[in-house]
Amino acid sequence: MKLNRRNFILSLVGGIAGIQVTPLPWKLMDDSAIWTQNWPWVPVPPTGEFTSVKSVCSLCPGGCGIKVRKVDNRAVKIEGRTDFPVNPGGICPVGMGGLQLLYDESIRYLEPMKRVGPRGAGVFENISWKEALSILSNRISALRKKGTPEALAIVDGNKNDSTMSALIKRFATAAGTPNYIRMPSMEDTYKMTSYLMTGNSSPMSVDLENTNYILSFGCGLLEGWGAPGRVLNAWGLWKERGNKVKIVQIESRASNTASKADKWLAPVPGTEAALALGIANVIINQGLFDTSFIDRHSYGFEDWTSEDGTRHMGFKRLVTDKYSPRQVSKITGLKESQIVAIAKEFASAKAPVAICGKGKGNNNGSLYEFMAVQALNALVGNINKPGGIFVNNTLPLSNLPDMKLDSIAARGLKTSRIDRAGSKLFPFTESLIDNMSRAINEGDKNTVDTLLVFASNPVFTLPDGGAFKKALNKIPFIVSFSPYRDETSYMADLILPDHVYLEKRDEVVCPTGLQYPLYALSQPVVEPLYNTRHTGDVIIQLAKRSGLQRHFPWSDYEDVLKFRARGLFDSGRGLMTYKNNKPVWQQIKQNRLAASDYSTFNQMWEGLLAGKAWYSLPHTGKVSFSTKSGKFEFASSKMKSVLGTYSKGSLKAMGIEAEGDEVFMPHYEQLRSSANRHDYPLRLIPYEIINLADNFVPSPPFLTKTLFDNQLRKKESFIEINPKTASDYNLQEGDRILVESPAGKAMVRVCLTEEVMPGNLYMPLGLGHTAYDEFLRGKGANPNQIISAEKDPLSGQFVWWDTPVKIVKI
Ligand code: SF4
Repeated sequence: MKLNRRNFILSLVGGIAGIQVTPLPWKLMDDSAIWTQNWPWVPVPPTGEFTSVKSVCSLCPGGCGIKVRKVDNRAVKIEGRTDFPVNPGGICPVGMGGLQLLYDESIRYLEPMKRVGPRGAGVFENISWKEALSILSNRISALRKKGTPEALAIVDGNKNDSTMSALIKRFATAAGTPNYIRMPSMEDTYKMTSYLMTGNSSPMSVDLENTNYILSFGCGLLEGWGAPGRVLNAWGLWKERGNKVKIVQIESRASNTASKADKWLAPVPGTEAALALGIANVIINQGLFDTSFIDRHSYGFEDWTSEDGTRHMGFKRLVTDKYSPRQVSKITGLKESQIVAIAKEFASAKAPVAICGKGKGNNNGSLYEFMAVQALNALVGNINKPGGIFVNNTLPLSNLPDMKLDSIAARGLKTSRIDRAGSKLFPFTESLIDNMSRAINEGDKNTVDTLLVFASNPVFTLPDGGAFKKALNKIPFIVSFSPYRDETSYMADLILPDHVYLEKRDEVVCPTGLQYPLYALSQPVVEPLYNTRHTGDVIIQLAKRSGLQRHFPWSDYEDVLKFRARGLFDSGRGLMTYKNNKPVWQQIKQNRLAASDYSTFNQMWEGLLAGKAWYSLPHTGKVSFSTKSGKFEFASSKMKSVLGTYSKGSLKAMGIEAEGDEVFMPHYEQLRSSANRHDYPLRLIPYEIINLADNFVPSPPFLTKTLFDNQLRKKESFIEINPKTASDYNLQEGDRILVESPAGKAMVRVCLTEEVMPGNLYMPLGLGHTAYDEFLRGKGANPNQIISAEKDPLSGQFVWWDTPVKIVKI
């Protein structure tokens, strides 16, 4: 038969019809299905009853409601909950891949272990919990017996204000060490800003859903900033409203957020404070500020005279004199017209809000920059109003009871903190982990004998050029409570592995940036799979074995959670019912939230155990501040009372070049680096993406497969370079280069893109692991290893966004 088009189609149709009629192919398929079931490497789906557990994800401070589908006792899928107020239905890629963190044995610890190989090699042997607890409690008891409890240091990555943090801090105090050190985060800087300008150490609280103009100083809204599930949902709402909501992104790289924003401004990195003040200048000089808010609720705006008759400069004169669009244009590299246009738009919007915290906000920000951004919110009077920022109090959880300390603890607590946080040099900062590394690396004797590391992986995540890891080599005994085989636990002598988040009860306390107070409990979705223990329980057990039991009267961690939750009930506030057709942000706008909708503590507690959230109304409409003046302070009385006595030299030691009244107000301090810019003429800037975890929790291995070929190819990662800069070095796409800073070097390949600022190099965070399994280990380079962070003026925290580097073509 001649095979023309018609005959071909006929034979195809005949073939298909024949397959439908003959039983042979169906039989073959059935046989092969039965046969392949016996292959040991083919995953066999579980059989059994289908159930679903409502819980809350605690992989990041985002607090998304999740629903975990189970077949028999195996969790098979994680989805977002539509009946939870934070993230109506959506979750991020890390949350979606959470099952890999539960079931992948090669990235988690299955038993308590002690080190048997060289430090850092990750060679351990299994021991019993009894032995593990006795090794550690003997060590702590010995330190206390010797009268040196301060030689115990603790690094804690749990969220500030969480019960876990409170319990760990209590253990440190009961033992007698002041060296309880927190991992840095955007929220630390925000809390300091609030403390200095509003008098409340309130958590970050932004009414994103009701705003109509977002001025974002580098916040990675689409990269996982704040509470990612909630922010992504807010983004959807803004886009639904079309041109009624405007998003302006300020950063030097065309991130996802910048690319999808309505406007993208790219100032020189590190000059954002100057830009905020330039915008303030236009708002003030053109009379666009909220006069009612400024007159009634602000302090330090106009020049003023103190009780001793001295005349002081106010914020208005500061920005008028020093931050004209022309002056700011020279600092930031932006056009004057751009600064003026943004200022006018921002001030004339109905509900504008300025937000800060670069990238995901996993790291700290610059304190003066945050203050400058907060000053913009005050200028437009959008504080405690729908669409603005809220000055919320911390959650009314019960404080743990006071302790009557023994003499050993009382003496130990009088010794100076190793990180010098709270000292004259760093008066407003709670913790400075970099100072701890420095003290250990530069000291001649071992100031830290035993280090406990909780919920953090500082060896990988700190932007310190490897300083923390170097310090670990000098610490005689390190204990990790990580559930994961991460870089820091590899350096440990003892591993007391926590459960993975789906195996334990824990809490979500005020998801980062959420505009209303919220509390929820995560559920143990499955029984613990291995011989791990909840770290909260372990601390209580450890206290009992170390002679500190009188300070820990609880039977287990859940008992502590219940104790603290009573404070929520006692506050007389809080809602437990939530209807997804009435989102909380809408009720805030209409000021319709009831005070409370439950009557007994048990009713509230049972609701929490069943996966409901406790939430409450923010302070809408009420404007009250806890500062000395009772107002929003452009000139901070707290700063004046502390720094007002400092000499010029002392201020310089804090990195502050400004003098006089300017010191107490938001202002721009040019970044100074100890590296010679001539030798290191380029600038390294790390960036974050939503499909790669770069904090304590590892990326579920499947996420590596979602990376583009110009981010990771086989084992090599890429650095983004503008073609203009590349041509200066004669670089082509894909070339291999060595990026070198005073702290270290890394080999990467070149990705040419017009979407980044010339003179800068951009590297993704989250790659370059040296631990975990074959899917995460050895993939790409970690920029944190070459960041030689300087100190942020005033706060003393890391300046991780500007590292001088040079490159060499290989
Ligand atoms: S955003 Fe955070 S809390 Fe939400 S699913 Fe992702 S990791 Fe979990």
